[in-house]
Amino acid sequence: MSVRTRFAPSPTGFLHIGGARTALYNWLYARHHGGAFVLRVEDTDSARHHEEGLGKILDGLRWLGLEWDEGPATGGEFGPYYQSERRAIYDRYLAKLQEGGHVYEDEGAIRFRVPDRDITVVDRVCGEVTVNLHQQGSKRWDAEKKEEVEANPDLVIRRPDGSYIFHFVNVVDDIEMQISHVIRGEDHLSNTPKHLALFEVFGVEAPVYAHIPLNLNKDGSKMSKRDQGALIHEYVENGFLPEAVNNYMALLGWSSKDDQEIFSMTELIEKFDIDGINRANSKFDYEKCLWVNGEHLRQLGPDVLAKNAAPFFEKAGIDPGDPRLGTALGLARERAQRLSEMPDLVKTAFFDEIEYDPEAVAKVAGREGIGEVLSALKAALEGVGDWCEDAVKTAIHQAADDLGQKMGAFMLPCRVATMGGTTGPDLVPMMVMTGKERVIKRIGDFAEKIAS
Ligand code: GLU
Repeated sequence: MSVRTRFAPSPTGFLHIGGARTALYNWLYARHHGGAFVLRVEDTDSARHHEEGLGKILDGLRWLGLEWDEGPATGGEFGPYYQSERRAIYDRYLAKLQEGGHVYEDEGAIRFRVPDRDITVVDRVCGEVTVNLHQQGSKRWDAEKKEEVEANPDLVIRRPDGSYIFHFVNVVDDIEMQISHVIRGEDHLSNTPKHLALFEVFGVEAPVYAHIPLNLNKDGSKMSKRDQGALIHEYVENGFLPEAVNNYMALLGWSSKDDQEIFSMTELIEKFDIDGINRANSKFDYEKCLWVNGEHLRQLGPDVLAKNAAPFFEKAGIDPGDPRLGTALGLARERAQRLSEMPDLVKTAFFDEIEYDPEAVAKVAGREGIGEVLSALKAALEGVGDWCEDAVKTAIHQAADDLGQKMGAFMLPCRVATMGGTTGPDLVPMMVMTGKERVIKRIGDFAEKIAS
């Protein structure tokens, strides 16, 4: 049997990290087995027009690189891939149930007779779950009476207005699209016995099910779209790399046998399996996600890094075509976790004006003999002919020697004077990148600033 997985979002208007993780697991599983990954839009319940609610979902999947083999825009032999366009197929399946006497009308709705016997879901993650749908559904809690009352256990599959219910169309589509593995959120586990009952009456073997644990906030609360890190488009805007987000999402509910944490997409495809999906709910940790992104940032080849970082530099007013950008990127990525942080780390090299951190200035200005330190520094740097790292370093050394001081004592004043703060990328390469004229002017201006 060939592997066919699917991601079946409703057009909610955004791609949530929980949904994106489900998509990723299905995509990885299909890629691992050389199968197909299908994107199906479950828009029968949705009041919104599908294009409007779907745009961000498709954009998010594309940005993550989770391209679908069949689905919207791509097409495929089992289309259409929007449920709203599949009505004729559902009608045909309903007719099958009517012929078999499995359904009946009830006040305009159509109900499916659920069997009065145990149904066991054998889930690849959650284990076995057995329920009797008939018994389970024959009572319901009446909130007004505050007691259990008799209920009709049979499943409504079509509403009086003619629209079909999720359970029915979900199963029909999985049959028609020949889905072999359903990997979805654990919130659907309780629906699965109903789905199995439908597969059975259609005489079709059900797919393999793997329900993945929920993804919660660190404090155990349910993650809403307002929580930090919840929406995929925010990762794009905030300077994350798609492969890092995939890497982090993979770890949210799955672990490799050897506890590896940083994966390329190729490694994920190779190592991902359903057996590694954890049973316990995962807890979303933004700090860890940042860490994973930083690790990926440091592994990027220079050209890919430049391409990814370009929009962020442009936004900061730095020309991505500047010949110094390669050096700037190399320096910035040692300290950045996201692309969006990089321009800030190196911007002092690209502009005449810099901002001074008052605390950093105060720290240096109060030092004894700071005036001499700065003028020795300036004089030594003025004497540098070939403005390169070695020469700049030698000049700082020389200035320190002249005053009988250690080079270390010169580094902080030099950093604050030329870059405005006490922290940042390596000082000497930053000075080289900033250029001789600018560096010398800054040291002179700074000396005046603290003397006044
Ligand atoms: N449309 C369902 C949802 O968004 C997907 C159900 C499924 O994957 O079977 O939760």
